Amino acid sequence: MNKIGMDFSLRIVIDFKKNFWGDNSGYMWGGTTGPMYFNAGVARSEFYRTLSITINGPKAQELSTQGDAVINTVLAELDSIYDNQASLFIRKVINDDGTEGDRVWFKADWGKDEFFKGGASYLKPEASMQDRENYGAALNDKVFFAGEGTDTQGDAGTLNGALNSAERATQEVIDAILSA
Ligand SMILES: Cc1cc2nc3c(=O)[nH]c(=O)nc-3n(C[C@H](O)[C@H](O)[C@H](O)COP(=O)(O)OP(=O)(O)OC[C@H]3O[C@@H](n4cnc5c(N)ncnc54)[C@H](O)[C@@H]3O)c2cc1C
Repeated sequence: MNKIGMDFSLRIVIDFKKNFWGDNSGYMWGGTTGPMYFNAGVARSEFYRTLSITINGPKAQELSTQGDAVINTVLAELDSIYDNQASLFIRKVINDDGTEGDRVWFKADWGKDEFFKGGASYLKPEASMQDRENYGAALNDKVFFAGEGTDTQGDAGTLNGALNSAERATQEVIDAILSA
């Protein structure tokens, strides 16, 4: 297991009232807080004004310590590029009395989650596919391991890898029961 790494991963999704970054811009690259700002709505809906920002590794770990204040850091970067329009156009909840409430945004901080503890597995230097195979090896036909980190078909780090491993582990359980 020591041959396989997994780093912090942080995703922030922010809803805006306006595509101030441009109606046809799907990606904004090169930020120092958010390396990539992604607008999934381009060419799908003119009303989809949501940016998704994914940050991995040491930067995600650093930003994770900010807790919910991380939204201010991200907005500050966007404001510096887009003339304060991020703070101006972020969508806010409308309260029953018509006043504006909280900003509409969401954060998934997988590194901090006690069960996830990170984003996606990777092989450390000098590790090989054999280490993924070892990682997924059952213990005495009694304890079985699935998960993208155990995939050996080239799909580690993805849902496909997780599904491959589920099939493999399920078959191992069946084989163990049949041969018991
Ligand atoms: C930002 C981001 C973007 C991604 N984008 C894509 C993409 O576009 N396409 C793609 O294919 N993949 C993507 N992935 C990867 C994909 O999400 C993962 O590879 C996949 O979810 C891994 O599935 P898994 O079952 O191996 O592990 P997980 O989904 O991590 O499931 C493990 C589960 O075990 C639970 N658990 C852990 N410990 C315990 C315990 N002690 N007791 C009980 N439960 C426990 C956890 O809570 C969790 O629910 C992305 C991942 C990230 C972080």
